[in-house]
Amino acid sequence: MKLQLNIQPLNTWLNTNNEPLIISGPCSAETEEQLLTTAHLLAATGKVSVLRAGIWKPRTRPGEFEGIGSIGLEWLKRAKAETGLPTAVEVANAKHVEEALAAGVDILWIGARSTVNPFTVQEIADALKGVDIPVLVKNPVNPDLQLWVGALERINGAGITKLGAIHRGFSSFEKSSFRNEPMWELAIQLKTLCPDLPIINDPSHICGNRELIPYISQKALDLDMQGLMIESHVDPSVAWTDAKQQVTPAALSELVERLTVREPESQNEAFVDQLADLRKQIDKIDDQLLQKLGERMAIVGKIGEFKRDNQVTILQVNRWDAIMNKGISFAKALKLDLNFTEKFLELVHGESIRKQTEIMNAGKAEKGLAAETHTEVKS
Ligand code: PEP
Ligand code: MN
Repeated sequence: MKLQLNIQPLNTWLNTNNEPLIISGPCSAETEEQLLTTAHLLAATGKVSVLRAGIWKPRTRPGEFEGIGSIGLEWLKRAKAETGLPTAVEVANAKHVEEALAAGVDILWIGARSTVNPFTVQEIADALKGVDIPVLVKNPVNPDLQLWVGALERINGAGITKLGAIHRGFSSFEKSSFRNEPMWELAIQLKTLCPDLPIINDPSHICGNRELIPYISQKALDLDMQGLMIESHVDPSVAWTDAKQQVTPAALSELVERLTVREPESQNEAFVDQLADLRKQIDKIDDQLLQKLGERMAIVGKIGEFKRDNQVTILQVNRWDAIMNKGISFAKALKLDLNFTEKFLELVHGESIRKQTEIMNAGKAEKGLAAETHTEVKS
């Protein structure tokens, strides 16, 4: 299923010189001097297309700096007049939209904490009716593609056709080196649903620290994202918000300089032919893999019946351990990634258990006694 959005391609509403779009600026506008100095330094790099600044900050705990508010819009106006850079701010309600529009802000974005709430998104959408301004929608805090899609649909439904998404990663319970797990697959799913939708990556909020930003930025470009939003500050060490993840304008310039921009397609005939040939080989192997999985599951079905008829449990831990150990040593010899192999075997095993559970409980289901057989059983 494709997502039906009425949108205009990014390069028709923003001049990116056919290069990835770079949006940069402080997490928060703090003082007029901080914003203007940062803006001038960014403009001087020649690598930034849009100046960002948070004016109203959604903070996890009350009492933290909640943004400088409307006065910051005046500073942004000045920064734009002096540098020529178009400006972008986060809006979280109708009042923010009205004030930002009145101040001549060029691009609005919806933050992750707003995207999670359809009431908030609808309020913003209603405030945008009849307005022609680009809007970027950050992914929601939680990994829910439908919420992200729903927010894009609401904004598009208000008549906004200069529309894009920002991938800023997702909250996760699991400890990781990232502030927000990238979960690239969600951004890829969004791209698959709507190939024309520009997706911009926000490595700052994914990483939560400066060190990982180049790695995530490059990965985003390699996944054909159309730009990056990177927080920058004239002196990150004293930033009032997100100090650890902001970079100086000079560091930003170096980071952008070092990025390798690859083309999604090549016109080179030899390359195209060779790639087509390699893909044909992969497709053939994928078919074989699925064929083999089908055969495996047919045998699993027989095992399920056999266990059922002999009153034997589905799970024999020793057997599962043996499968995993054998698989891992084989994977080592094949130079396969061990983490991948483990996940793959777990997935196959989980499906085997699900199938056997279904068989074991088939009789009970008819009598209305079966437990849910479609849920994934983890062992
Ligand atoms: C921000 O861009 O400063 C911000 C608050 O981001 P997010 O909504 O992604 O947390
Ligand atoms: Mn921030």
